[in-house]
Amino acid sequence: MSRIVYVNGDYVPEQEARVSVFDRGFLMADAVYEVTSVIGGKLLDFAGHAARLERSLAALDMAAPMSSDKLLEIHRELVRRNDLDEGMIYLQITRGAPPDRDFVFPDPETTPPTVVLFPQAKALVDSPAARTGIAVISIDDIRWGRRDIKTVQLLYPSMGKMMAKAAGADDAWMVEDGLVTEGTSNNAHIIKDGRIITRHLGNEILHGITRAAVLRFAREAQFEVEERAFSLEEAKQADEAFITSASAFVMPVVTIDGVALGDGTPGPFTRRLREIYIDEIRKAAV
Ligand code: PMP
Repeated sequence: MSRIVYVNGDYVPEQEARVSVFDRGFLMADAVYEVTSVIGGKLLDFAGHAARLERSLAALDMAAPMSSDKLLEIHRELVRRNDLDEGMIYLQITRGAPPDRDFVFPDPETTPPTVVLFPQAKALVDSPAARTGIAVISIDDIRWGRRDIKTVQLLYPSMGKMMAKAAGADDAWMVEDGLVTEGTSNNAHIIKDGRIITRHLGNEILHGITRAAVLRFAREAQFEVEERAFSLEEAKQADEAFITSASAFVMPVVTIDGVALGDGTPGPFTRRLREIYIDEIRKAAV
């Protein structure tokens, strides 16, 4: 099945989509991205993703190529043209393709950004992993110091996923100075005595849009939330743990480095949080 993708103003079949070999996204990972989920043909938390995109662009001195209204229009058009019911829209903006490879940023007047969007169909709500929970291993966090910017430098997270697979697990939690930063492509959270503990925001983690929404809904549902760093040891002694991301929503973690949390099945608080998140985020879908 061929998808319709968006490249610099045009909607084209994926086989016809072209980006220059001089594109700085390709040569230097000089690019930012967003992934917005779709349920029932509607976008989840588009405003949150658009706001973070603006923040990522500003942090890299890249001008926004278009308004968020225009971006929303393109997202919706891709959902429509691909008849996407459930899945994600991936968006990437690079610093464009200068005439030659050069470390110096090109002049944005003569080198416009490259804008690419494409859909990915995927069952998100009815996920087998959400029923069983996932296993994570711990790995050293050796990424750069601005993890709050959503860049396409995903080599180490990708290697982390492979290390997890090699160990028979599903994902890896990254650890720095004994403290958990986040998952390879998600934020990490634990629950102890009914209280949600999650790392505070800073340059060390991506400011997850799902994290923010889940914490907001959790507080509204009278959960206690503590935003602070937690150690790997504390995580292994937690009652429950979960990850959040735009496509995983709230996903239970049932083992860490082979240590089972609780009885090794998804716990009641995590299951409740997943339900609340899906119900609430759906209501506000556009
Ligand atoms: N942390 C990292 C490193 C990620 O790659 C992601 C997802 N791209 C997240 C957290 C979760 O962010 P969000 O909830 O906005 O998808």
